Amino acid sequence: MNQTNSKRIFSEALKLMPGGVNSPARAFGGVGGTPIVMDRGEGCFLFDADGNRYIDYVLSWGPMILGHQHPKVNAALNAAVARGTSFGAPTLAENRLAELVISMVPSIEKIRLVNSGTEATMSAIRLARGYTGRDRIVKFIGNYHGHVDSLLVAAGSAAATLGAPNSPGITRGTTADTILVPYNRPELAEAVFHEFGPTIAGIIVEPVAGNMGCVPGTSEFLKTLRKLTKDYGSLLIFDEVMSGFRVAKGGAQEYYGIIPDLTTLGKIIGGGLPVGAYGGRAEIMDYVIPVGKVYQAGTLSGNPLATAAGIATLSVILEDPRSFYDQIEQKTTMLANGLEKAAKDFKIHASVQHIGGMITIFFLGNEDTRIDHWDAASRCNKDLFAKFFWKLIEKGVYFPCSQFETMFLSTAHTEEIIEETIEKVRESFAEITGRTGF
Ligand SMILES: *Cc1c(COP(=O)(O)O)cnc(C)c1O
Repeated sequence: MNQTNSKRIFSEALKLMPGGVNSPARAFGGVGGTPIVMDRGEGCFLFDADGNRYIDYVLSWGPMILGHQHPKVNAALNAAVARGTSFGAPTLAENRLAELVISMVPSIEKIRLVNSGTEATMSAIRLARGYTGRDRIVKFIGNYHGHVDSLLVAAGSAAATLGAPNSPGITRGTTADTILVPYNRPELAEAVFHEFGPTIAGIIVEPVAGNMGCVPGTSEFLKTLRKLTKDYGSLLIFDEVMSGFRVAKGGAQEYYGIIPDLTTLGKIIGGGLPVGAYGGRAEIMDYVIPVGKVYQAGTLSGNPLATAAGIATLSVILEDPRSFYDQIEQKTTMLANGLEKAAKDFKIHASVQHIGGMITIFFLGNEDTRIDHWDAASRCNKDLFAKFFWKLIEKGVYFPCSQFETMFLSTAHTEEIIEETIEKVRESFAEITGRTGF
């Protein structure tokens, strides 16, 4: 495969930006080699700077649930551009997006739009602290909530891949009030509340973890978190930046039937433009300025282009939400079955984990059978993953460049495309193992 232009453009980028990128997840740190420079997207495909086509399972790390350049999203964006791109004043479109989200996400009565998932989580924990008058926040190992100072403690995602769980530049004071607990271990969360409960402002959790690969929370774990926060007067914050509008119309909270106090959103809510949001019970949200005293602002928040793309995306989902999520789930299951069978046939020790439109194939460490927390994830065979990743790239399939990033499906991925993907996975396994499979 000719990647001459990619290599040239990326070597220029290295002189212009740290590591040649504007976000570390793109730097191929987990697989080595040169990142592929993308030129355009169309449906379930990406095309690189040399014109090579890839089936895209990254989908901009989650947002593009309708695939690239969905006609209705494009039309909404074009119409918005024609009216002006930013006013710094209230617009009707903000009401519309807020109404859609409130109608879809069970816990949200009032919402505030921001510009990224990071802003959403940062604001939500500030609100939890302002509302409860307490300082401590509980966070889970391997969960990622963006690059919020106080949450960059043993974070997953790029931080884990880069082996830099703690970032220089963050003061000890900033993280002193963050308590880290292993994921999916309800008894350990209980122990923490027995000791610190009355001083804990809130728990922030990915109800479906997607930043150590796809690791759904267990129902028992999430129920325990709901009970503990209720018993101790702390707030439960579901970080649904990734799981929101992806595992169900109302996100993981609908899927599990557990209603948090606050919810953070991002990714899909912007339909490919930079948007985040946080919301919850009106009584809590009214602690936010200008009604309340918890400060939070944004020059471009509720931006007309971003709201247009978000409204268009959610509106397509709402045309027939049941069949929308059934289809995504069915396609994801089809891919999961294909990956599982391929791993078995080629005698590769793996766990394929999926929920809604999220899926990961983990190349397990010897002692593991499934990944349900970060310790087990960290034992995965990252060298095998790197080989697998590059074999697929050669065959025109773009998987995330890290064992610890989730793959996503969109409505644009057809059954034929998924069959083609499975075939290329089998070819890759054959080349890596030297086995024939059967
Ligand atoms: C992506 C992500 C974030 C951060 O969102 P950005 O828009 O990258 O700042 C926060 N939480 C979760 C669960 C995410 O997946």
